[in-house]
Amino acid sequence: MALGDYRNIVVLTGAGISQAAGLPTYRGPGGLWNDPAKVALSDVSALRTRRDEACAMFWSLYTSAREVRPTAAHRALAAFEAALPETANYLLITQNVDGLHQAAGSKRVCEFHGSLARWRCEVCNAEVELPTEQAHCGQPMRPCAVLFGEEIPAAAEHAAKRALRDCDLFVAIGTSGTVMPAASFVRWAAYSGARRALLNLEIDDEARELYTECHAGTADELVSQFFG
Ligand SMILES: [Zn+2]
Repeated sequence: MALGDYRNIVVLTGAGISQAAGLPTYRGPGGLWNDPAKVALSDVSALRTRRDEACAMFWSLYTSAREVRPTAAHRALAAFEAALPETANYLLITQNVDGLHQAAGSKRVCEFHGSLARWRCEVCNAEVELPTEQAHCGQPMRPCAVLFGEEIPAAAEHAAKRALRDCDLFVAIGTSGTVMPAASFVRWAAYSGARRALLNLEIDDEARELYTECHAGTADELVSQFFG
């Protein structure tokens, strides 16, 4: 079946799609979470015990994400979505909090781990998009990103499950494909009878069992080929 014939498409993206933009990945070589101090600050408990330090770290992640441009892969996905017929359902679920899919022009984006582009004041509950100030009501705001120890936002989880229930094409990009949430998503997609493609730098044996096709390479190369 040609790509244009699918009517219920779900795409999942992970850190690998933003790597070429110059953003650090979280796991793997050079990843942020290799630094135990950063892992500790990314736990929800740090907002109570070391709020200034934790929020300052997120703020610096936020400001570096604002400076980078979407990659060829981000742009290819946005172009694919824009060219879809009106009868096609499409959901782009991203684990990334960098806002690069929206910057590239993607519309139907489900931010599974929230976003660094929205911040929340935990004194008055105001939510600020693209903030220019770090503080509100006299204390540092926090990003609307999911921290370690926090739940996935219910709306995001619900949207993802609904889309996967009916999907006929599932494509995971720039994520190992066999860790959560990709590991669950691909199983749900399989239950729906969907074609399941993995586009990632590394492919392991487990992925070969879960996906109907696996392509190894960079997101920029593979996404343009697959969706082009
Ligand atoms: Zn406030």
